[in-house]
Amino acid sequence: MIVMKFGGTSVQDAKAIDRVAQIVQGRLADRPVVVVSAMAKVTDSLLAMGRAAGNGDRKGALKMARALRERHYETAGELLGTALFTEFHGELGTDFEDLDELLRGIGAVGEITPRTYDSVAAFGEMLSSKIVAAAFASRGLPGEHVDSRQCLITDSSYTRAVPQFDETNERLQKRVKPLVEAGKVPVMGGFIGSTRAGVTTTIGRGGSDFSAAIFGAGLDAARIEIWTDVDGMMTTDPRLCPDARRIKVISFDEAAELSYFGAKVLHPATVLPAIQKNIPVYVLNSHNPTCEGTKITAQSPPCTNIFKAIALKKKITLIDVATPRRLLVHGYLKSIFEAFDRHQVAIDVVSTSEVAVSVTAETNEAIPALAADLAKIADVKYEGRKAIVCLVGEKLRDTPGNAAKVFSILKDVKIRMISQGASEINLTFVIEEDDATEVVRRLHQAFFAEVDPEVFA
Ligand code: ASP
Ligand code: MG
Repeated sequence: MIVMKFGGTSVQDAKAIDRVAQIVQGRLADRPVVVVSAMAKVTDSLLAMGRAAGNGDRKGALKMARALRERHYETAGELLGTALFTEFHGELGTDFEDLDELLRGIGAVGEITPRTYDSVAAFGEMLSSKIVAAAFASRGLPGEHVDSRQCLITDSSYTRAVPQFDETNERLQKRVKPLVEAGKVPVMGGFIGSTRAGVTTTIGRGGSDFSAAIFGAGLDAARIEIWTDVDGMMTTDPRLCPDARRIKVISFDEAAELSYFGAKVLHPATVLPAIQKNIPVYVLNSHNPTCEGTKITAQSPPCTNIFKAIALKKKITLIDVATPRRLLVHGYLKSIFEAFDRHQVAIDVVSTSEVAVSVTAETNEAIPALAADLAKIADVKYEGRKAIVCLVGEKLRDTPGNAAKVFSILKDVKIRMISQGASEINLTFVIEEDDATEVVRRLHQAFFAEVDPEVFA
């Protein structure tokens, strides 16, 4: 049994859903469970409707709901043909009546609560999963819609509800497993769940990957496939280095370091439930389905290259906090970090000496006020237009001399800050933004001109 998850762009219209059906058709022998996101942009527009209704703009909210209804009808009509669509139309119609009802209710109260937000947002995945299931059936695939809210049980922290694994796994065994065993293809919405009492919840924006991992772990899937619109993770940004390679296999820890510094393919934390059970996760491209993508595993396989990838994050500000008196006493770091917290400035890289603390953050408008605040307890300097370069590879942990190799290539480059993370699998440093492209190209040339064919494509 496998789990195949398709994101919003993979189900954005009839053509995309048709492609999904073909991809699933090719995997029938693996007994797939299909998880889908809402059609692209639908969650955003549902939340906008909820907000409008909450602000008393009932008309505006209902108008948006009508546009959404049209889009879903059009897609379903195109996929199903007239006869089948007529049958299915009523079912979708009931959902849209419910949505209108809900929006009118929110409009009447003139306020939207997190709980009602979730009820509105859940329509996206409810609708897309029904349409995909119907499209499968019309193409001779044994698709069967399963309402995820009956399987994914969460607490009641609305908009970011926390899955209750024991109960969820029990439900999956009872509700989904028998379908797979009977040769059906369950089609489920990601992102949505419900409390034990049956109140609709969502598990946080972008949560469909998380749903796929939860379902895969609960059903002991042989693998989980996350279908997106890129070929997988790359050794670096191909716009900077046209010879960037696809990474065929990467460890969970490496993928996590990379995503932290900009690789936006998938947030590894969301697939943790699968990794913990040693279930491999694949990132695949629904627009290029024969490409093997990137496999994320718990353990990194042997690799002759030191690094797996080079990530680059631009628009960074470097903040130096120095204390004139040697005051790195108890509580000093705390007061510095509290200031960052107060101004909601997220920290990327930190390095300290006895007299100074250097910190980087994404450049943003809160920094001047933060600096003014910090100036009350220390000497503060900050400078924008910096970039973070991050080299990632499990091999860093046990091969000496890597830092020397890296910096000997960059002898003429001004390095502003260096940190080798606690995870021991990344080497991170800060440079001038103007040097970033040249630095990444040189490093990529040095470390990826030859690659291990088992690990890179
Ligand atoms: N549809 C949800 C969102 O846009 C969940 C997802 O796509 O993963 O956040
Ligand atoms: Mg997503």
